[in-house]
Parts: sequence; structure tokens; C-alpha cells
Amino acid sequence: MNRAIGIFAHPDDEAIIIGGTLIQLAEMGWETHLICATKGEASTAYDRDYVKKEDLGPVREQELLRAAELMGVAKVHFLDYMDATLVDQDEIEAVEKLAAHLNALQPELIYTFEVNGISHHPDHKTVHRWMMKLLHEGKLNYAPQAVYLATVDNRAGRLKNGLLMGSPIEEITTIIDIERVADQKAKAILAHRTQMKMLINNGLIVDGALQRNHRHEYFIKLDGSGQPVQLKEKETQLPATR
Ligand SMILES: [Zn+2]
Repeated sequence: MNRAIGIFAHPDDEAIIIGGTLIQLAEMGWETHLICATKGEASTAYDRDYVKKEDLGPVREQELLRAAELMGVAKVHFLDYMDATLVDQDEIEAVEKLAAHLNALQPELIYTFEVNGISHHPDHKTVHRWMMKLLHEGKLNYAPQAVYLATVDNRAGRLKNGLLMGSPIEEITTIIDIERVADQKAKAILAHRTQMKMLINNGLIVDGALQRNHRHEYFIKLDGSGQPVQLKEKETQLPATR
């Protein structure tokens, strides 16, 4: 089975970070899955005219399911942790939960956050740490073809707190052009309606379309055991199914 999986923290991470990759993998015949650690209950960036705080979890769950459908994702799995609590969770238990999902599905391609979680969000960084621990401690009952740490080119700009977002270009091994599916990615992002104001305010979506500077997705490729791989040139193609 040709399976690929994306492992992220909140509904919207998947569409914003690797939406174009997920869409294209599904087109190529990969059966794509997502694991989302939380249901985004703690979002402060939500649209208060549209949803009450106490309804955020179930509403964002539905938004993620809709976004997944728009990206051709076969199934979404939830770890059911509370948003903004991942650093406080039992790490061993979390790694076991993730390993159980991965060992049941045996995805050849695994996508997750780079070390700084792109935006330095503590939940993002925690998911990265769990995944690296899982890989380095040999918790998988199979050998994935590759692990991709999703990132952005850190020359793209700084966060409000002055931190750089993403990774230095030298560390990035893989750059995927998503121009052809940019409109489909924008629709998947916009399925996260509770987050609309944030998406527009940060310039990701302009007039319903993906902003022009967001037409590539960036990754750091690791081997199936989580060790860095050396590539002579940057990879620009998604892996073919076998
Ligand atoms: Zn997030």
C-alpha cells in the first residue's frame, strides 16, 4: 500500500503547511492520512461572530474533515489532546499513541514539523520532539521510505517577536512547486472558516486566493529512521508510488 501521512498539532496546520503536497500526493495515487494532536480548542484567532469559544473544538474538527476531503485525504485521526497543552503531556504515552497509529497504517512517507515548528508554537515543537523520539528509539515495526520535516525558507520573514520562521535555505532539501494546485490548496485552507480573520490578516489568503509568495512547500528530508540525508541537489519532485 502506498500511504503517506501528515502529523500536525492543530486543524489548519495541514492545509497551510503541506496542503499542496497532500493534494498532489493523492493525485499520484498515494493514500493520504492525517494525524491531528488536538482539535484547536484554544485558538485565540477565531472569528467570534461565527463561533462561540466553547464550540471551537467540535467546529474545528468538522473544518479539518472538510479540508481533508478537499485535499483528497483518505482519513483523519485525532490524538484527542487539548490544544495548547502538548508540552505538559506524558511524552512516553504520546509517543506510544503515535507509534500505534503509524504501525497500524505503515505509511511509507511521513510528514511532520521541523524542530522549531515553523512558527515556534510550543505544540508544534512538541509534535516534532515526539516524532523524533519515536524514530530515534525505533518504535516503528516497519521502515518508512522517508520522513519530511515541513518548514519554510526563513528568508521569508520574521514573526512579530523577532524570531525567524522556518529553516535556513542550506538545510532545506526539498522544494515542491504547488502552483498548479494553489486554488485547491486555498479552498482547503478556507475550509478552516473559524480561522478566516487570522488567515487574511497574516496575508496568506488574498481575495480568496493563495498569496503569490506561498506557491512552494519546503521540507528537510530524513531517512526512515530519522537521520539526515545528503542530497547533491535539492529535490523538487514528490516520490512516485511503487
Ligand atoms: Zn498549529
